[in-house]
This record gives sequence, C-alpha cells and structure tokens, in this order.
Amino acid sequence: MPASPTAVSADTYSSGGSSLPSPSAPDARKRRVSYFYEPSIGDYYYGQGHPMKPHRIRMAHNLVVHYRLHHLMEVCRPYPASAADIRRFHSEDYVDFLASITPQFLAASASTFGSSVADDGNSVHPFESSSSRQLRRFNVGEDCPVFEGLFEFCQASAGGSIGAAVKLNRGDADIAINWAGGLHHAKKCEASGFCYVNDIVLGILELLKFHKRVLYVDIDVHHGDGVEEAFYTTDRVMTVSFHKFGDFFPGTGHIKDVGFGTGKYYALNVPLNDGIDDESFQGLFRPLISKVMEIYQPDAVVLQCGADSLAGDRLGCFNLSVRGHADCLRFLRSFNVPLMVLGGGGYTMRNVARCWCYETAVAVGVEPDNKLPYSEYYEYFGPDYTLHIEPKNMENKNSLSDLEKIRNVLLEHLSRLQHSPSVPFQDRPPKTESPEEEEVDMDQRPTCKLWDGESYDSEPEDLAPHYGDIVESHSTPSHDKTENTAGSVVTIFKLNSSH
Ligand SMILES: [Zn+2]
Repeated sequence: MPASPTAVSADTYSSGGSSLPSPSAPDARKRRVSYFYEPSIGDYYYGQGHPMKPHRIRMAHNLVVHYRLHHLMEVCRPYPASAADIRRFHSEDYVDFLASITPQFLAASASTFGSSVADDGNSVHPFESSSSRQLRRFNVGEDCPVFEGLFEFCQASAGGSIGAAVKLNRGDADIAINWAGGLHHAKKCEASGFCYVNDIVLGILELLKFHKRVLYVDIDVHHGDGVEEAFYTTDRVMTVSFHKFGDFFPGTGHIKDVGFGTGKYYALNVPLNDGIDDESFQGLFRPLISKVMEIYQPDAVVLQCGADSLAGDRLGCFNLSVRGHADCLRFLRSFNVPLMVLGGGGYTMRNVARCWCYETAVAVGVEPDNKLPYSEYYEYFGPDYTLHIEPKNMENKNSLSDLEKIRNVLLEHLSRLQHSPSVPFQDRPPKTESPEEEEVDMDQRPTCKLWDGESYDSEPEDLAPHYGDIVESHSTPSHDKTENTAGSVVTIFKLNSSH
C-alpha cells in the first residue's frame, strides 16, 4: 500500500479487545475494506430547512479522498436496490408508493383535489385525495418529506448495504462500509424519522443467507427501533442499541424491552441520559459488547454509526468526541468478525464528515493527521481546521450509580442467554409467508417528533458550493437480482407498540 503524507500507520493501536490475527492479513491491524459510495448521493435534498442532509456523505467522502484513504481500500459504487430487493422487508403497497410518488404528482394532486366544496355547493369534509390519504398512511409528509429522486436515494442507500453484505458473504472483505446506510427508523409499512427504506434490515437479511447469527449494534443517539422491531422475535439477530431515552424520539428502547418468544433476551437496550461523555459511554459499551461477543458468538456484526451522538449535534444531546465515537468501531473491529459499518443520523454536517472520515481510517487501520488536508469544503471546518472535536462543556446527567445499575441489569439479561444458540440454519432459506399487515393506529404514534420544524438552513455550511467527487472503481452488480424474492427463516413481525 502506498504511504500517504497525511495517513500514517498507527503503531500505537491498542484496542483492548480480542485482537485476533486476520486469516486474510499478516497482522492484527490490517483488514480488507470495501467502501460503498454513490457519487450522486450528495445531490439529494430533503427540502429547505430540513436537518437531514445527504450532502454530509459527500463531505465525508471528500475528506476520505483528501486523506488518501481510498488507496487503502476497495471503493465500490453500489448497484441500486430494486423494488423487489426492497420488498424483502417492506410491504408491496408501501414500496409501490415510494417508487411512484414525486413532488410534481403531489402538486398536481393538490391542485386537482384541493377544493373542499362539492358541485352542489355544500362543503365536503373530510375531503382528501387518495395521494394525501397515502401520505398519512405511510407517514410521509413532515419528518419524511417527498423530495426529488426520493426512491433513487432509497435505492442507493439500500443498494450499498445489500452490496456490503454480499461482499462479506463472499469473504471478499473483512469490513464493508456504507455511510449512506444506517437508516434505522424505517418500518415495514411506513417511513419514520427521516428514514424510508430500512437498508439495515435488508443488509442483515442478506447476511443471514450465509451467517447463522448476526449482531446489530447501534450508537446513534436515537433508539434503533426499526431494526429491533424487525428481528424482535428471532435469536438469529441480536440487537443492541445505545440511545437517549426519555421524552425523546422515537420513544422506544426501554431497558425492559428484551425481545419476545424465541427472541427473548436477544434485544438489548441501553437507555442513556443527556451529556454522556466518552469515558461513561465506553464504561458501558466495552463490558456489554465483550459479554455479547462471548455469549452470542456472532458470525457477522453490523455497526450503525449514527453521528448524532457526537458533542454539538443539532438534534442530539450526547457529548461524545469523534475519538470516543470511533472507539466503538475500534473495539468491534478487534474481534475480527466480518463487520458491516453504516451511517445513520448526524445533523452537524462538519462533525459528521469528521467522524465518518476518521472511522474509515480506523477501519483501514491508519491514524490520520489531526490537521485537515485542504479540500473543497475546507471552510466548513474553521476556525480550527482539525479532524477531531473537543467535547462540549456540558453536564453529564448519567451518574456513576445510574451507569452501574444499567450495566448490572443488562449483564443480568445476558446471563439468561444460552451460549451461541444452535439455531436451525439452511444455506438456502425457504420462503416464509409474512404475517398479515396490521393497520397502524395513527393516534398511538409517539408524540415526540425527531425534528421540531426549526429551520436549519441558516448555517454557513449550507451555503458552500457542491463539488463532484472521485470514485476509484465501480464494482460490478454484486448481488443476484433474480433472487430478490427469496424469503428468510427470520420472522419479520410487526408488533403493536407496547411502550
Ligand atoms: Zn439519530
């Protein structure tokens, strides 16, 4: 591998985990990394004032390229997920809706059906077009708006995670990264929390074709509800979510929610309070994940690296540094199990870019210079122009005794698990019928919104120009598009909200 001026090997990496020598690399540090990036991803735009900005993925990629990390890994352009791929988790009518809805159709629909007065002059109420009924039914509108290219955006995000799974399934990579993935709130039949298609569930379903047990770890500030719900009743996927709990979107993720039926104790929820710092976070993350790895012995791990748990995030309330956030990846990487690394939330774009660039460096096993290389987006990173960020001066509302209680309760849950369940496993899973869809009671939605509607477009970073980016190589379509209706032994079960 060519040495670069800004990315130097880290001889001082001491992960503290079980750093096993890789069968594919001569030492415990190097990993074969595949990195999925769709060059048009930064052009998608949720709308004026919306905090979710796909542009942050292009900013992260830009730093990756300027640190010359792309020479240390395989860069792949994802093959867009087809509607049939997406239907492996999502309902047919929801996918049809996503594939057909456009801002133009909505506007035309509003002008056609906008009148609420019938021919005889009487008011017709309630009156709404079928498209607005669908918007309500699929929870599309406010947090999850209809924007130009919405379905193509979902296809790119999901295609990256499915492609990453295929790389790991084939043994072609030790780590596969998709920063456009990690959209953990999307549900089988509806959008939620800026997420439309759950690329994580689709990626895990792909991994389950070749792996007996998959561990999912989520360090986004929000609960990983969509993924937990999808695998709540199976022991083939264990979900572990670290998140802010209490009067916070999406409202789920109580410590007592542990899974159901065969899946009982295969869901782990770590409820945290505002201001958690690196030391407190790792004080829970390391012992809990160590125990999970020891007991569950997953064949593959998926890490959702939502960057809204960083200090200074516009929607988050944690106080993690980039280094503290990346330590989760460093620790999981040390177990040397096939690892999928995904993005997620993250609403202070310059810090999201810093974080995902640094985590890409951790994945390939180098320690980048803290001084940022000059790049198109350099002015975003002032006044310090450094890769790392300092934690904020904020109170850590997680007391030592609270953290100890949480750790002990969760270790107790883990003690109820049998060691590595020998689940029935078939190389070619049979098709499994999905249970009947349930109507969602609109009145039972959590009242907490992810976004309060405050505009976020006044930030200087939004005013910077967009530039094209570099993609090293394009992978060939990496998954068999004819296998998209293959079912899975995993039960995708839509539970009523019981929280
Ligand atoms: Zn989030």
